[in-house]
Amino acid sequence: MRKFVVGAGATGLAAGFACGCPVFESDTVPGGMSRSYLLKPGKQRRWDLGPPDPSGYRFDHGGGHWIFGLDAPLKECLSHHGELDAYQRISSVFFSHRGTFVPFPIQNHLHCLEPAVARQCLEEILHPPQRECSTQAEWLEANFGPTLNALFFAPFHERYTAGLWTRLAPQDAYKSPIDRAAVIAGAAGNPRTAGYNTVFHYPRNGLSRMWADLARRVDVRYDHRLVRIDPVDKVLHFADGTVDPFDRLLSTLPLDQTLTLASLQPGSAPDPYTSVLVLNVGGPKGRSCPPDHWVYVPDSRCGLHRVGIYSNVNRSYLPQADRDSGRTASFYVERAFPAGKRLDDAATSQYATEAIRELQDWGFLQESEVQDCHWVEVAYTWTWPNSTWKQEALALLERHDIQAIGRYGRWHFQGIADSLREGILWGTALR
Ligand SMILES: Cc1cc2nc3c(=O)[nH]c(=O)nc-3n(C[C@H](O)[C@H](O)[C@H](O)COP(=O)(O)OP(=O)(O)OC[C@H]3O[C@@H](n4cnc5c(N)ncnc54)[C@H](O)[C@@H]3O)c2cc1C
Repeated sequence: MRKFVVGAGATGLAAGFACGCPVFESDTVPGGMSRSYLLKPGKQRRWDLGPPDPSGYRFDHGGGHWIFGLDAPLKECLSHHGELDAYQRISSVFFSHRGTFVPFPIQNHLHCLEPAVARQCLEEILHPPQRECSTQAEWLEANFGPTLNALFFAPFHERYTAGLWTRLAPQDAYKSPIDRAAVIAGAAGNPRTAGYNTVFHYPRNGLSRMWADLARRVDVRYDHRLVRIDPVDKVLHFADGTVDPFDRLLSTLPLDQTLTLASLQPGSAPDPYTSVLVLNVGGPKGRSCPPDHWVYVPDSRCGLHRVGIYSNVNRSYLPQADRDSGRTASFYVERAFPAGKRLDDAATSQYATEAIRELQDWGFLQESEVQDCHWVEVAYTWTWPNSTWKQEALALLERHDIQAIGRYGRWHFQGIADSLREGILWGTALR
């Protein structure tokens, strides 16, 4: 049987490791969106595994990728590929117009709001309307009430979903957990932490070193960009003109892309996705840089919705000379766009200038000494109300012996740990 995996990100590496089959990867390095790289002040070049001297900033391509949801067996597996450090999440909602921070999740910290507002939020959360919710917007308002919704959830989701939230099916309940006992405790000043990423891990030497070590045990065929799948004659066509017949295929590419490569389309209209422009930036730290790992911003001027602070997770993200002094800090800034609405180079550079100015105005950053933008085409995958597109698409591919797997293949939210578990599962099944 000729069995292959496509894509050497977290999912494909785990699948290739478990099945021993070749993994075709379009890039020259493993790790996909979660690979890291180094950038030195004053230099354009990106080093995948590290520059010749330790003066660079380390960033992750798709913004800070910190591994949440790691269980003991997976942690044991990964520790063979690099030493892992564990972290307790520090995260806030930042109201930039007022310059105030409320710990995340905001619904469990109502005591941080003005007393009258907190009382109103609590009253609304404890007495939700009894109604069916068919959209994400309705679900958020029904669960968090009009006051907290107007304060945070509505403006944040407008940015985070690039305006889609009023039309999407309710989803992301685990990202915005609602536990009424925790809300009451938080209103009384006894907050409880909650959410999917309260504890996370990061490899001490960066993700790329971990992926490179794992990839040494996997048969990765780099520089192999799949450009067409013939689902009838069962042939893979690559950009360099080579072909490979297959019997079974695991594809970690986004579901819509695998369908297009195979010229297969289900009857239903496709579910939507949003793209993210990631701005990585490092430089002398501002006077009011918070201690957080993630900051959620509902009211930025430039449209960003989340800032991650690499250097608050691990000093190894900084140039070696700055690791003890704390002189510098490094950030990633996320802004979402509707699918296909990619900014051109001039608009990207204009946006980067505005976002950096905003970080400076907030006192997070004094000045930028390195900056770099990455476009993540399929970043967040969503579902229309009552859509059956995903199920139809997966079934259609399966009928042609193509299994779409991973966060983008199966069109569902998950982090690196779940992607690795899914890869191991499907790779084992392919053996
Ligand atoms: C903005 C953002 C922030 C995130 N933050 C976190 C976080 O903090 N923690 C966390 O755990 N998870 C995070 N995630 C999720 C995480 O990125 C995914 O769960 C994980 O990277 C999925 O890995 P994958 O292998 O499925 O996909 P990818 O990493 O996208 O890998 C796909 C691979 O396929 C290759 N490829 C693409 N096209 C072709 C082709 N035609 N032929 C051959 N190869 C091809 C690509 O080069 C790539 O290597 C985040 C995601 C986003 C979008």
